[in-house]
Amino acid sequence: MTDSNCIFCKIANGEIPSKTLYEDDSFRVILDISPASKGHAIILVKNHAENIYNLSDEDAGKIYVVAKKVAIAMQKVLKCDGMNILQNNGEAAGQTVFHLHMHVIPRYNGDKVQIKWTPQDAAEQISEEVAKEIRETI
Ligand code: 5GP
Ligand code: ZN
Repeated sequence: MTDSNCIFCKIANGEIPSKTLYEDDSFRVILDISPASKGHAIILVKNHAENIYNLSDEDAGKIYVVAKKVAIAMQKVLKCDGMNILQNNGEAAGQTVFHLHMHVIPRYNGDKVQIKWTPQDAAEQISEEVAKEIRETI
């Protein structure tokens, strides 16, 4: 299922041409237009899903296999020193395009990519009561 107003649907399904690194029935992998580092790629799901909350179990199960293939190939070819695999859900988490995609970001010693947070006091952690509620909701 695609959304006619969604640019990533159009790219993923080949309506808008892109420099594709990998494609199968469910995904297309392209280079990011504003890369964080050399080789930064994004894995686009072909069936429109805004984010992880409405991604199908099938696509959820398969996307990491694609990430692994791309990461291994990038590591071999680009000789990068590390690799971040990440996926943003919601504006608060940094999502800017609301069609699910996974970032594959090769890392190089001394590069300028910043993916970090300030660790908070453990007292800010959720209570056992809330943990129980989550456990029962899964
Ligand atoms: P988000 O912030 O939603 O996790 O990531 C969106 C990513 O998509 C950004 O890294 C942005 O540079 C990339 N992007 C946005 N529009 C396009 C596009 O039209 N083509 C490509 N190749 N990348 C795009
Ligand atoms: Zn879409």
